[in-house]
Amino acid sequence: MYKAPPESTLIYVRQSLDRSGDGLAVSRQREDCEQLAAQRGWTVVKILTDNDTSASGRKARPGFTELLDLIEAGRAANVIAWDWSRLSRNARDTLTLIEAGQRNGVTVALVRGSDLDMSTPNGRLVAEIMASVAKHEIDQKGDRQRRAVEQAAEKGLWVSGRKPFGYEPDGMTVRPVEAAAVKAGYTALLSGVPLGQIAREWNAQGFTAQSRPWAWDSVRRVLRNPRYAGLRALRGEVVGAAQWPALVSEETWRAALDVLAGNAARAVPRGAKRLLTGVGLCGVCDATVHAGGAANKAPMYRCSGKGAIEGGADLPGHVSRMALPVEEFVSAVVVERLSRLDAVELLADRGRPDTGTLRTDAAALRQRIENLALDYADGVLTRSQMKTANERLSGKLAEVESQLADAGRVSVLGPLIGAEDVRAVWDSLGVDRQRLVVDTLMVVRLDPPGRGTRTFRPETVRIEWR
Ligand SMILES: [Zn+2]
Repeated sequence: MYKAPPESTLIYVRQSLDRSGDGLAVSRQREDCEQLAAQRGWTVVKILTDNDTSASGRKARPGFTELLDLIEAGRAANVIAWDWSRLSRNARDTLTLIEAGQRNGVTVALVRGSDLDMSTPNGRLVAEIMASVAKHEIDQKGDRQRRAVEQAAEKGLWVSGRKPFGYEPDGMTVRPVEAAAVKAGYTALLSGVPLGQIAREWNAQGFTAQSRPWAWDSVRRVLRNPRYAGLRALRGEVVGAAQWPALVSEETWRAALDVLAGNAARAVPRGAKRLLTGVGLCGVCDATVHAGGAANKAPMYRCSGKGAIEGGADLPGHVSRMALPVEEFVSAVVVERLSRLDAVELLADRGRPDTGTLRTDAAALRQRIENLALDYADGVLTRSQMKTANERLSGKLAEVESQLADAGRVSVLGPLIGAEDVRAVWDSLGVDRQRLVVDTLMVVRLDPPGRGTRTFRPETVRIEWR
């Protein structure tokens, strides 16, 4: 590190509007600083002056800028100021000054205050601490920027530097090829495809996540983002409709959230290969069944319940049975049901209001919740009135949102309903998708097949329509 000759000393004085005591006129600051230089035997090479008496806080200060330039140029060993608040107007000044001082081993000497010698380990430590305090203060100022973000969010505008996947850098215009990938991602997720697989598919299509390959966590971040349902959020809370176009419906997005949160009807193990894994139930204890059986033998369904583990799956009462005949039977039942003329009612008539109404209800409830906060702020409501009303409305909103999520799940039946050859469509679906269809339509309970029974008895597979 180059150290300027010890005699090269700068004095910095500043006229300000601060009411921090008397004696701070520039002439007084200057006299005191010169006296300090004389005591130390330092040679003052330049006196830099700023005048901040104009009320504008953002005014350029040529003196301070020149001070930093001279430090960076290695032309100052010492800087003298009256006190720290004369030298640095704010946290950002402090940070800049300390960073420059650290790089050049400068000593800051104050008329009021101790020296900060940034050429010694102790001085460097103090400088580090001051810098981190300054950084903290700057972060706090970030509150003001956050407020600007809030205001933009309230208007449904987008505020962020990063280009959202599926949109142009303006965040408002759809980029069709990426948008298609996002939509396919939602469909895949709702069909039970693991996040890692979606990531691989996006990578294979040449897409990147902020110039890195997609991975399960970055895919999850995308699919969780309310922007794709045309909703704007503030710190994780949906606050209303956005001005950019949605890529998927709100019900699809909510169903995806449910799946990602593990709230979907039942948790299916990742990469499950059999139709009823995680969705079929043990006819004895209602625990889910999982697939088992030795690799060289026929696949089996087994109860995953506690009783099964304690008692052993082969003990009477708990289920362990061949998988293939059960799967054939369940598939046949699904295909039969979806081939009926009234199959379309599975989509429409499930005792739910249509999704358009649900979406409107959700928007209205959000608006009412927002108004509560305003009424409270205006003193129209007391705190406890606001709390009660907020709880009531939030409860209703949660209910509507969960109905929307259900509606999103029902849409998995889409391609099967009204298909000319339901069997062909069913067979073309991956097992993940088939499993979701089964789970959407019915509850399947597997009873023990009966001792020594070789023939499949349909009555041991109990199907209950949802
Ligand atoms: Zn069981």
